[in-house]
Amino acid sequence: MNSKTNVYHVAYYTADKSISIFFWGCNFSCTGCISKLDLFDYHLKDTDKKSKKVVFLDYQEVIKRVEKLEPKRVVFRGWEPSLDPDLPKLAESFHDELKTWNLLTTNGFIIPSLNDMDEIEISIKAYSDDIHRDYTGKSNKRILDNFTNVYEMDVKLRAETILIPNYINHQEIGKIARFISKVDPAIPLRIDGYVPIPGTPWRSPTHEEMDMAVDETRKYLEDVSYLDGNVSFKGEVMEIV
Ligand code: SF4
Repeated sequence: MNSKTNVYHVAYYTADKSISIFFWGCNFSCTGCISKLDLFDYHLKDTDKKSKKVVFLDYQEVIKRVEKLEPKRVVFRGWEPSLDPDLPKLAESFHDELKTWNLLTTNGFIIPSLNDMDEIEISIKAYSDDIHRDYTGKSNKRILDNFTNVYEMDVKLRAETILIPNYINHQEIGKIARFISKVDPAIPLRIDGYVPIPGTPWRSPTHEEMDMAVDETRKYLEDVSYLDGNVSFKGEVMEIV
């Protein structure tokens, strides 16, 4: 009998023929974790999610469910995919059987085998360790070391962070950008605007606050983008699992 992976949800995007594979569980306890608000892909309708149950798949089932769609790109995302021991095997199967471009998104605390990853996106929540500990429950030292080490590997590296007004503000995001620039100023950074989670004291950033963060990071980095919740979505999202 095959053992189950941590995979509990799979979504397919018609616009770019990509799939997102959602893994259960995390080794961080971020106060503003979006997964606490929404277990499933946020593009799916709330009415479809209400009755949805969490089921875990074995890794062959994951491939089987998506192979007919002939995906071009696979995003391994979370919660936190690196905790699943089956992740490297799954990535290898996607490469071998479906010839996909594999992207791992991770908090960077554990770096699994990247043999079958084409790209990795490491989330750096804060550069100041006291803020990082406060927000995630963990020191960022290991993540910053891992970020530098992954740069030396044969995989495309990008970074992501989150802008939270009056907490992880434009100055803090600037410190993250300065750190990344010392590794390589060409590494892309995406800034996500905070989405308020019930029970947290923070609000979403304004356009002006996002502009300030982008301007600050562009002092150090060549390729900065942002997501503020106003991005139009092309095509359809299909729930596969
Ligand atoms: S690292 Fe990501 S998935 Fe884990 S708690 Fe933080 S926001 Fe949530």
